[in-house]
Amino acid sequence: MPRVEDMALREELQRAGLPAPRALVRLLALLRDSPETHLRLADVMRLAAQNELPTGQLGLARQLESLADHGLLGRLPTTEAEAVFDTVPEAHAHLIYEEDAQVVDLHVSPETLLAILRHALAAWPGEVAVLARLPARAAGSDASVDRTAADGGFHRPSGQGFPR
Ligand SMILES: [Zn+2]
Repeated sequence: MPRVEDMALREELQRAGLPAPRALVRLLALLRDSPETHLRLADVMRLAAQNELPTGQLGLARQLESLADHGLLGRLPTTEAEAVFDTVPEAHAHLIYEEDAQVVDLHVSPETLLAILRHALAAWPGEVAVLARLPARAAGSDASVDRTAADGGFHRPSGQGFPR
């Protein structure tokens, strides 16, 4: 008898256009139940082993990529080579404390986010690094497309003369 939650997850997978074999449903359930929301492949392998799910590295990596590609998992914006998956698929901000690499989710309004940023920039001038991930459509390479109307005047700062 499948759990009610599993049936909901099965539906979610199918709505996203993915097949919903039992192992994938159980994996998604594990990820959603995990108290830690930011997970590397090794963390997921450990979770799978503890819960008697298939633990093959390649298979799990493929499943995670597939879940992320279909919007059921997020990817932590990071400059590290290794992907860090986010069990919260909706876009949100993160604070990363350099000292212990602790990552804190910020589910706040744009106003609060800007206030937090202002506070951090004032508290540690010259020491705060900010990374913003823009949607794919913001990075179109066709320079002839006028994006001013669509995105409120934002221009990708890659033009000549822009300090990089
Ligand atoms: Zn997050």
